[in-house]
Amino acid sequence: MRNPVQQYLEDIVAQCGDTDGAVADYIPELAAADPDRFALALATVDGHVYEVGDTDVRYSIQSISKPFTYALALTDQGPEAVAEKVDVEPSGEAFNEISLAGDTGRPRNPMINAGAITAASLVAGGSGAERFDRTLAWYGSFAGRELEVDEAIHDSELATAHRNRAIAHMLREFRVLEGDPEDTLAQYVRQCSVEVDTVDLARMAATLANGGVQPLTGERVLSGPTTERVLSVMATCGMYDAAGDWISAVGMPAKSGVSGGIIAVLPGQVGLAVFSPRLDAHGNSARGVTLCERMSRDMEMHLMHVGRSSRTAVRAAYPLSRLSSRRRRPEDDQAVLEAHGDRARVYELHGDLLFAEAEHVARRVVADDPELAVFDVRRLDDVAQVARETLLGLRTTLREAGAEAAIVDPDGVLPDPDAGTGEASPVFPDLVAAVVWAEDELVRRHGDRDPDAPDDGDAVVAEHPLLRDLSPGAREVVDGLLERLTYAEGEVVLEPGGSFAGVHVIVRGEAVATVDGPGGPDDEPRTLVTMNPGTSFGELALGTDGVQETRIRASRDLEVLRLGADALERLTTERPEVAVEVWRAMTHDGYRVADRALRASVTLG
Ligand code: GLN
Repeated sequence: MRNPVQQYLEDIVAQCGDTDGAVADYIPELAAADPDRFALALATVDGHVYEVGDTDVRYSIQSISKPFTYALALTDQGPEAVAEKVDVEPSGEAFNEISLAGDTGRPRNPMINAGAITAASLVAGGSGAERFDRTLAWYGSFAGRELEVDEAIHDSELATAHRNRAIAHMLREFRVLEGDPEDTLAQYVRQCSVEVDTVDLARMAATLANGGVQPLTGERVLSGPTTERVLSVMATCGMYDAAGDWISAVGMPAKSGVSGGIIAVLPGQVGLAVFSPRLDAHGNSARGVTLCERMSRDMEMHLMHVGRSSRTAVRAAYPLSRLSSRRRRPEDDQAVLEAHGDRARVYELHGDLLFAEAEHVARRVVADDPELAVFDVRRLDDVAQVARETLLGLRTTLREAGAEAAIVDPDGVLPDPDAGTGEASPVFPDLVAAVVWAEDELVRRHGDRDPDAPDDGDAVVAEHPLLRDLSPGAREVVDGLLERLTYAEGEVVLEPGGSFAGVHVIVRGEAVATVDGPGGPDDEPRTLVTMNPGTSFGELALGTDGVQETRIRASRDLEVLRLGADALERLTTERPEVAVEVWRAMTHDGYRVADRALRASVTLG
């Protein structure tokens, strides 16, 4: 199947076939290059490379080496020490201009020869040869393979390097260079002679696009801040005296070389490389510039292009009352949730969270003013440091207002710096667990009763409709029939397929009703509902011809009061007036449970 990106690249290469410009000839060996050679490579930050044309033809890297040597100098010496020797101001001059800044005596930037020779001298190493060996290995770690020197180009350039020799000696005179200028000149000429192909260059560019991590090897070659600095200097100075035109028309940090190569970097997305030896008046590949302009326009690669607005991080926001945890709670608690469910809100976040997205989240939450906020961050991709800090600040704001936040974050997308201090926010593996937390918290905050109090089981049971709605006389009869049963955590109370065993009212602990998963009994069972003290189970079998359909298990040590099927049977024949009251209460509760189940079925996924 044809890849449309490959097709597009082949089409524009066919369309931009201009033959303007001339091959560089100030280095004799370069003049011998075949002017019609052409290659284009586009490397993505996940390691894929598209290739068109002569992508295996090798040529000398020339000035495309400059940003990488500058990166090594920055890494070896730190930004301050390097800045003392080389500035970062665009010069508006040709690459080989013999110039230094009037006031400081520094070369204006590391992309012109004076600055590049200085940067080469700042690479760590006892001699030019040692510095070069490190430089060669360094370039290789960007390309993802070991590189070599084209000795013919090297010898040819060194023999005719009169202008660069003049620059090196001038730098020595102004004490910008400290050692032997010939030694550094030799190092610089060698670095320009490193042999690459267009795929190598695209991979080197993609490493910069990927924040300094080589896409294929996964190696962090360059730190994030140094990558940013190198790209900034490429953006302002990489195309010499055409830098302004380039950044306007193409809008990507770039670097050209006299052998006809250009690299361009779209941070976070791709590294591009083009090769065509005919140069324009600025010493940049003529066809290469045309192609980059075309790609930037067609593929919307200009850095200043506004690709998307940032309001998209909140995928959905809604009150807790729209959800159900599928947890059956006593009626009082259920009433608290109905009254206060809107005070708890769920925010589902997705995509990348950079400054603007985090700001939007913060503003929205502050405007909602919730008492409890659940952030579901499972669909977040990239979370910038500034976004983390904004969310932590939001948590502080919430706490100051007496509110609390929780996150659904099974993969640790938002690690909490307060973990283990007691200050951390609760973290849950799924939304159901977070909703249970929020519901419990609302009951704790707004209910009359402390749900955590250990010994209120019997009081809660008394509020169950089955017992509460009975007349005192009937209640006494029923009390005499109730059996108190206990089950250990994990024990099965009712098996599916069994017949109606009676109504079980939970006094303490917790029970879950499950059914087999789609894969049958070997599959992970699906939880239908979790039941708290004060709720009941077992009676639903009456709705299915007396057959128990779900498996009821004690999810914690469980204590129940059971009105057994036999007792109910006896009551119906012996004390029909009491039985009528019991049936009426059970019917009432049954409708209530059915109504909630219906609501739960349309909410949580
Ligand atoms: N080696 C070349 C020089 O210094 C590099 C120049 C370039 O590619 N622009 O002259």
